[in-house]
Order: sequence, then structure tokens, then C-alpha cells
Amino acid sequence: MFNVTLIPGDGTGPELTEATRRVLEATGIAFNWDVQEAGVDVMESAGTPLPEATLASVRRNGIALKGPITTPIGTGFRSVNVALRHELGLYACLRPCKSYPGMRSRYDNVDLVVVRENTEDLYAGIEYEAGSPEAAEVITMLNGMQAKQIAPSSGISIKPMSPEGCERIIRYAFDYARKHSRKRVSCITKANIMKFTDGLFLSVFREVAKDYPEIEAWETLVDALCMGLVQRPEEFDVLVLPNLYGDIISDLTAGLVGGLGVAPGGNIGLDAAVFEATHGSAPKYKGLNRVNPTAMILSGKLMLDHLGETDAGTHLENAVAAVIAEGDRVTYDLKPSRDDPSAVGTAEYADAIIEKLAE
Ligand code: NAD
Repeated sequence: MFNVTLIPGDGTGPELTEATRRVLEATGIAFNWDVQEAGVDVMESAGTPLPEATLASVRRNGIALKGPITTPIGTGFRSVNVALRHELGLYACLRPCKSYPGMRSRYDNVDLVVVRENTEDLYAGIEYEAGSPEAAEVITMLNGMQAKQIAPSSGISIKPMSPEGCERIIRYAFDYARKHSRKRVSCITKANIMKFTDGLFLSVFREVAKDYPEIEAWETLVDALCMGLVQRPEEFDVLVLPNLYGDIISDLTAGLVGGLGVAPGGNIGLDAAVFEATHGSAPKYKGLNRVNPTAMILSGKLMLDHLGETDAGTHLENAVAAVIAEGDRVTYDLKPSRDDPSAVGTAEYADAIIEKLAE
């Protein structure tokens, strides 16, 4: 029996989470779900979209399955998703992208894994607004240190990257490759331009790669990667990237295999892991029993792997793949045309997977 924090989230989150919970239970693995609230629906009653009790539950259980959560604009609240990653030290973002027969996509041979650094880089949140006294102070200091001058009217975003931060994500990528019998890890940077940040990432990669001689170590610039992914996605295996490139590239790779509805993810740290789809709360579909739960169900598969239940994880993945391959009882986005009247709802698609698991 695994104690798992279950965060339904908001928007379409609760219906996706319910479908995922039923499917996971049908694998035969026993869960004790610790259901916790977060998101816009609890903001009024709790005074925050991320109640302390929710964080405490994830810390206690060390593992959570989470539905998407809306980031309200203009309320002063920062993203719950970002806050969770920071509070729990979830430094690795894992996003596998795999083609399944029957999926609507331009490619049928993609099987790659994006490993994104989650805490540093331009996303560390250190910014100075154009025209502010803080920006003026930073600009004055920097202009005093170098010949190259920054325009005084500039806004500034800082890109901090530490050797420790680079090493732990790169080791995570190589360890993942070793554990899952992957053949190649590609380091993705713009090291030719940003020598002290991306260049650091690349030099740490070269050192760490020596500890994994059985795994091929590739170095690719992020612009060349974009072209390579579109032309020959089958050549790529595990990709390790700093935060910003990882964010952008993981949406691109989701697009290679059929879009956001099928792109799973996990955020992993030393003491806790939170599994969630790449997509957001798709609020316009809230309560309609319409959206595709595949991304969240496959995030549940990643969670099973993380818990050491790899046979159950493979069984679940095979059941999802079989339902997609048959193409009958699938959601609208997996049909040849988006207004196909034979598309089923979120819950009925989950029922089809549960039936496959029982076969
Ligand atoms: P979104 O991913 O919620 O939706 C964009 C579009 O993608 C939808 O309109 C829909 O057409 C499609 N889509 C998304 N999920 C789908 C699914 N499961 N099945 C079928 N189609 C699907 O992106 P958005 O509209 O930019 O964001 C909505 C809210 O979600 C925002 O507040 C955003 O901040 C938040 N968000 C949360 C997370 C998270 O919880 N980790 C991630 C991204 C965005």
C-alpha cells in the first residue's frame, strides 16, 4: 500500500484526476490517497492557492499525483506549480515523449525523454523592472565593471547557473539513461554564446559523462536541436537541458507525438516527487467530461515506475497504447476529425483502459 498525496487541482483537473485514480487502482496496486486541495477553488476559503496542509502532505508522503492548476492573473499569487517545485526542491523535470500507433501525429517513431533543470537559469525569478531604482542600481554597477554598456532604460533578468545545480541534473539524466537502458544522452546548450552559464553546463556534462562510459554523450546546440527534432526525431534519446530551453523544447517534443493531451511529466527531488501532465487546466472544458486524460494517466505510469512498480507501469502503458491503437473509445483529440461524433468522454476513455487492464 502506497501513501500518495492526490491533488485534483482546478479547471479540468478534478475530472482528469478522477479518471487517473480509477485507472491506477485497476492496475492492482493499492494506494492510500491523501486528497489535498490547491488552486483557484480553495483560494477564498484558505486565503492561498497552496495551503500549508497540502505541502505538508507531500513532504510526509514523499510522492504526489497532481492535476493541473490555474495561475490566476493579476491576483498577486504566484504559480502554485512553480511554488511546489521550489518549496520541495524538485530539481528534475522528466518529460518522456513517445509515439503510439494510432496517435494523430506527423511522426510514428519518436521515443525520447526530456530532462529539464527546474530551479536555476533565467527562470530563477531574479528580475529588475525597467525604470525601477533596483534596475538603475544593477545597471550602474555593471556599467562600472565593463566596457560594454547596458542602456539605462533596460529591464534585467538574471541567469544564475551553479556547478552543483548543473551536476545534479546531468547525473539525474545519466542515471535515468542507465536505469532505463537508454543509449545516448545529449547535452543541449548555447555554450558557444553564453560561456559562463551554458558553457559551465557543458563542461560539467563532459566531466560527468566520464562516469557513464557505456552511454554515448552528445553535445548539441539548442538551435540545431530544433531543426534535428523536426527532421529526424528518431535519432534523439535522452536530452538534458537547462530550465528555459527545457521548457520550450518539451512543448516541441509533445507536438512531435500528438500534443499536450498525451504528454506526461514528473518533477523529482531528493525527498519528494510530484507527477503531473505537461498541459494546464484547460478551464474552458471544465466539467464537460471532454478532455483527454492520457497525459495524466501516463504521468501515473511514471509514478508507478518511480515507486518501483515497473511491471504495473508497463501493463498500464500497454493498455493505454491498445485503446489508442483501436481508436474507437478515445477522446475527440485522438479522432481523425475533432468533431467526430463517435468520440467518448474523459470517464468513458478511462473505462476502456480499465477493461483492457482486466483482459
Ligand atoms: P492548457 O494546457 O490548459 O490548454 C491549452 C489548450 O490545449 C486547451 O484549450 C486545449 O485545447 C488543449 N488541451 C490541454 N490539455 C488538454 C487535454 N488534456 N486534452 C485535450 N486537449 C487539451 O494551457 P493554457 O490555456 O495556457 O493554461 C490554462 C491554465 O493552466 C493557466 O492558468 C496556466 O497558468 C495553467 N497551467 C498549469 C500547469 C500546471 O498545472 N502544471 C501547466 C501549464 C499551464
